[in-house]
Amino acid sequence: MGADGKKSLIRTEAGLPAREHKFDEAALVCDLELGRSIGGTSIEFHYPHGPFTLVPAGGTKANLVWIDEESVLRQTQAGGPEALLAAFRTRSQNLFGSIKLVSPSFIFPLSVLSVPEAGRDGTVLVGESAHAFPPIGAQGLNLGLRDVADLVAVLAETDRTSPDWAASASKAYAERRAGDLARTGTMVDTLFRSLLGEMLPSQALRAGGLWALKLMPSLRRQAFSIGMGQRSA
Ligand SMILES: Cc1cc2nc3c(=O)[nH]c(=O)nc-3n(C[C@H](O)[C@H](O)[C@H](O)COP(=O)(O)OP(=O)(O)OC[C@H]3O[C@@H](n4cnc5c(N)ncnc54)[C@H](O)[C@@H]3O)c2cc1C
Repeated sequence: MGADGKKSLIRTEAGLPAREHKFDEAALVCDLELGRSIGGTSIEFHYPHGPFTLVPAGGTKANLVWIDEESVLRQTQAGGPEALLAAFRTRSQNLFGSIKLVSPSFIFPLSVLSVPEAGRDGTVLVGESAHAFPPIGAQGLNLGLRDVADLVAVLAETDRTSPDWAASASKAYAERRAGDLARTGTMVDTLFRSLLGEMLPSQALRAGGLWALKLMPSLRRQAFSIGMGQRSA
């Protein structure tokens, strides 16, 4: 079982192909102390190269995920804490009073990675070894957990006394995961690309789609259950 991340050696050793598209954008993450609490709500500010998102972390603390061109993030980070804080104040439109850094900042280059088969010939891939995408919609970890749940279910159904059980289990696992991986990967990739400045027509479509979700409770419930993986079977 390969659970060794985006650059999976197990995937490579097993000869399982993967497609990867690297974006110019990256994500800068760190923990912040804000001048006032954001309560229990995530707040996103949208800019041409991606969202600047504050996620509540208790009290006046927030986790920041700032997506922008990698060169912009690296240059700001190289300017030290003062340059970072100045950028945070501007991008959060000075709405949160004084902002303090309470952790180092890390930059993660963004890409989308997918595999045509998540298992074959006795090898299975779970988590980012099988799928990676930008942290939009908070789907990555959830999808990895669903991989593990399906693998456990497949192993429970497998007769492990048969000599070729690993090959048949890996094939059954790949078939079981195919729909969820394709659906979630496409949804997140499309959503991320629609957030970028050069995709103005899709930004309009996204805005229309979100407006429809707001107006139609049944559609909204359906979208939430897909996001929570409840319609993944
Ligand atoms: C900025 C950012 C924000 C995110 N936000 C969210 C979110 O809000 N919600 C969400 O659901 N997901 C989010 N994700 C995605 C989530 O972090 C990933 O989906 C998850 O970490 C993938 O877990 P993984 O175990 O598959 O891979 P990884 O976390 O990459 O772990 C792989 C592990 O394998 C180890 N490893 C690699 N090679 C070897 C080797 N040869 N030997 C031994 N060990 C090895 C690595 O050291 C690593 O510890 C975010 C990702 C990023 C970058």
